[in-house]
Amino acid sequence: MENKDIIKKHAKEFIKNFIVFCIAMLVVFISFKSLIDKDKSNGNKNDSTNETEISIAEQIEDKVKSIEGRYGCINIIYSESLDIELSKKDYGFTHKISNDESKKLSALEDIDIVLERLPQNILYEGLDIYGGKFNEEYGFDSTPYIRINIVLCSEIMEEKDRLVSATATGMSRLDFNDKVYNIFINVDYSGDVAKTFAHELYHFFSERIDIQAIVLGVYIGTEWNTELPDGYEYYGNKANLSSMPYTDKTEEDINNVYFVTEYSQTNIEEDRAEIFSYLLSTDEDEELPKAYESPHVRNRALMIIREFDECYDTVDENAYWNRIFEEKTSGQ
Ligand SMILES: [Zn+2]
Repeated sequence: MENKDIIKKHAKEFIKNFIVFCIAMLVVFISFKSLIDKDKSNGNKNDSTNETEISIAEQIEDKVKSIEGRYGCINIIYSESLDIELSKKDYGFTHKISNDESKKLSALEDIDIVLERLPQNILYEGLDIYGGKFNEEYGFDSTPYIRINIVLCSEIMEEKDRLVSATATGMSRLDFNDKVYNIFINVDYSGDVAKTFAHELYHFFSERIDIQAIVLGVYIGTEWNTELPDGYEYYGNKANLSSMPYTDKTEEDINNVYFVTEYSQTNIEEDRAEIFSYLLSTDEDEELPKAYESPHVRNRALMIIREFDECYDTVDENAYWNRIFEEKTSGQ
């Protein structure tokens, strides 16, 4: 019995020590493991930073490939090496390609969304400026334009070093010699790339509209003026964009609102491009700017819509801008 008691005591002691030892080892193990995990997570963090950087560049390339693949006539210029030829051209302004990868990617996403909204093949029809009814009437030798360059810029500078005003964040140029249409988008500007791109696209579409309208007789010049203030003249470059009349910022009565932006008052082409731009860049779940509640803006928007219907076979009532106009201004 005595021996048994001693053995019991030793066993108890042993178990107690063993438990203390186990706990100590567990503590050591846990601290060691957490150290390793920390290192691992740091390592992963570094890896994932690299991954993000690589994947932005890769995502840009993927996006470009996807857009260019879907619209055979689009060429996207997003690096200086792709810009060599274009940068030599004198279009009356200079541009720089953006180095900001994430802004380029986000601009491409916006551009993609706007392109997705276009009626199928309208870009090809737009490139065929002198085709259609104009060609039928005049037998004009018209080789369609080849492609649209979309240039992702950090800066667009007009001659005389005057920075393009904040609202003119894009530029468009038809190149007669190269048979190319160039759209320059300032992607570093914090504004609405979708809206800017939609605006520039209107300038592209209107090349064909202006030519077809010679034959179709739908040119809206005279009718257009009936929806402008009495005796109104566009301001041209004299426009003081910080304080223009006839906008929803300056007029309380919606019937005195005639323009969707200050920039609209530069000339009729900018006015048309501005009205059209929101009809294409506004999302389905967004509202149009308040100015579209004005009967003058709505009637001019209808003229733009009618011109598209007349001058483009690819456009019907299902065109995105027709649906947005119908849905967002109905009942007014
Ligand atoms: Zn413009």
